[in-house]
Amino acid sequence: MKVVDHIKQANSTLFSIEILPPLKGKSIHSIFDGIDPLMEFKPSFVDVTYHREEYIYKQRADGTSEKLSTRKRPGTVGICAAIMNKYKVDAVPHIICGGFSKEETENALIDLHFLGIDNVLALRGDSIKSEPAFIPEPDGNAYALDLVKQTVLMNKGKYLHEELSELSQTNFCIGVAAYPEKHIDAPSMDSDLKYLKQKVDAGAEYIVTQMFFDNSKFFKFVKDCRAMGINVPIIPGLKILTTKKQATILPKIFHLEIPSPFMEQIEKCKTDQEVKEVGIEWSIHQSKELIKQSVPCLHFYTMGTSDVTKRVASEVF
Ligand code: FAD
Repeated sequence: MKVVDHIKQANSTLFSIEILPPLKGKSIHSIFDGIDPLMEFKPSFVDVTYHREEYIYKQRADGTSEKLSTRKRPGTVGICAAIMNKYKVDAVPHIICGGFSKEETENALIDLHFLGIDNVLALRGDSIKSEPAFIPEPDGNAYALDLVKQTVLMNKGKYLHEELSELSQTNFCIGVAAYPEKHIDAPSMDSDLKYLKQKVDAGAEYIVTQMFFDNSKFFKFVKDCRAMGINVPIIPGLKILTTKKQATILPKIFHLEIPSPFMEQIEKCKTDQEVKEVGIEWSIHQSKELIKQSVPCLHFYTMGTSDVTKRVASEVF
């Protein structure tokens, strides 16, 4: 079922989660172990992230080194199929521009369609570590907008090189990402919102936000979106902070602020166990306030910590 239909049919805030494929070679049971404890809260959908290739240097016997391309977390499509099969829940694969030609994107979307997947989250992806900025494939999509457009064309039965008529149409509900505290590359919030609106105008039906810890930023973001005519559901993305280190790393990686009252509580903690408790309390407070404002869904970035997501979910759902 489409994410937007889940939202339309609901009479209260929904619960959903995002998971990461396991590291290459690890068992899928680590994924199931993470999802099992959360099934009692009936997630409406489970997002599965996509991880592009990275470059590693391998030492040869003669002392020279070889540059190799490897994907550390493959398996997005297989995990989606396994989740749908095991839990009868909608899986939402993330699809990215990075590393994909348009032809490869088309083939990936055909696979997803054949698997009975109804939703995709269309993203640009980040640059790989060896590149200073994002570089699309020469014949690939440069922005998430282009990926949305390609998916919309397939929903209309228009494939890249086929000139036959009456081609089978896909029927994906397309979600896109947004940033209540601005995307790191964007010169301004206005410019970021302008491009977000282009994604929605091109056919994106819902938005999932980057994590944030300050609800007032999310509420302002939604207000600004509505003011410029972005009217699709906006789903807040939530991360539960569990270690002191995350308080310094997350702002750098995701371009976000930790609100001072939260940071003051974190600084007082002597152990990460204490930070975890503070993080859970903060997330419960955030979630309750968001539900009060009738957000369509709370989307948790579980990142392998389903125990804390369970603690929060049991307080708010
Ligand atoms: P875009 O919408 O393409 O925007 C990228 C930047 O370009 C923005 O600064 C925007 O303002 C600007 N821009 C957009 N269009 C134009 C234009 N026409 N001209 C000039 N500038 C423009 N990454 C992964 O690799 N795998 C994942 O599974 C994944 N999941 C994610 C899930 C969520 C909910 C979020 C919020 C992010 C996720 N990411 C993932 C990270 C994401 O790929 C990065 O944040 C990436 O840098 C931007 O992706 P985007 O889809 O927002 O890009």
